[in-house]
Amino acid sequence: MNLSSRRIRMVMGLRRAGVNDPRVLGVMEQIERERFIPPAWQMDAYEDAPLPIGHGQTISQPAVVGKMLQALEAGPRMRVLEIGVGSGYQTAALARLVRAVFGIERIKALLSDAKLRLEEQKIDNVFLRWADGGKGWPEGAPFDRIIAAAAADDMPGALADQLKPGGIMVLPLGAAGNQSLWRIRRDDAGFQTEDLGAVAFVPFLPGAIEANHVAETSRYRPAQGAA
Ligand code: SAH
Repeated sequence: MNLSSRRIRMVMGLRRAGVNDPRVLGVMEQIERERFIPPAWQMDAYEDAPLPIGHGQTISQPAVVGKMLQALEAGPRMRVLEIGVGSGYQTAALARLVRAVFGIERIKALLSDAKLRLEEQKIDNVFLRWADGGKGWPEGAPFDRIIAAAAADDMPGALADQLKPGGIMVLPLGAAGNQSLWRIRRDDAGFQTEDLGAVAFVPFLPGAIEANHVAETSRYRPAQGAA
């Protein structure tokens, strides 16, 4: 089966996983996930699995990206802060759903690759920053939506401050083995939290680094369900 048929099959899998927002399904049907992963994994691009992208990190599992984007309830005029750009796959999807994406990544080498991929695909409504996402993006704040792809123990205070009243934040919280995906709505009364179920993301780490040299076997397959 060729990659575009596999992509259509992936979208059918997303529906079965509970993703039914037509805008989210539409963008995930357009974006070529194979462009965001190392050559050795091309044929696995549309498996519903996270895959290694180097530096000890992974591209998130498609069903998890779909669920997060759906939970975000993002509209076409919104400005969104994304923490943990990684490969840039979710960034590309967000860019097609909203007006502007402000993406932060702490590993410079990953961010440079993501930037090239987005440029190649003529995605021009994304602003990228190499930094610790825990501080948010103060000059860009407040944001209509905030999304994070790495799990902190507690909601980072700076992110809460940078969310507009009426805004929504979707992020995993908790230590490895005990994480949930949370949707947090900011209203006049404060923050309303909603547990969207168990997930397994890489940890939200402090500080920004050039690269992360870790030993990686060439075809190491991360556990299913990990993001
Ligand atoms: N959505 C991305 C997920 C990448 S994994 C994709 O599908 O490719 C999560 C990413 O979060 C990693 O690249 C990791 O380096 C990054 N990350 C972890 N803690 C961070 C922080 N404090 N600030 C910015 N990025 C962070």
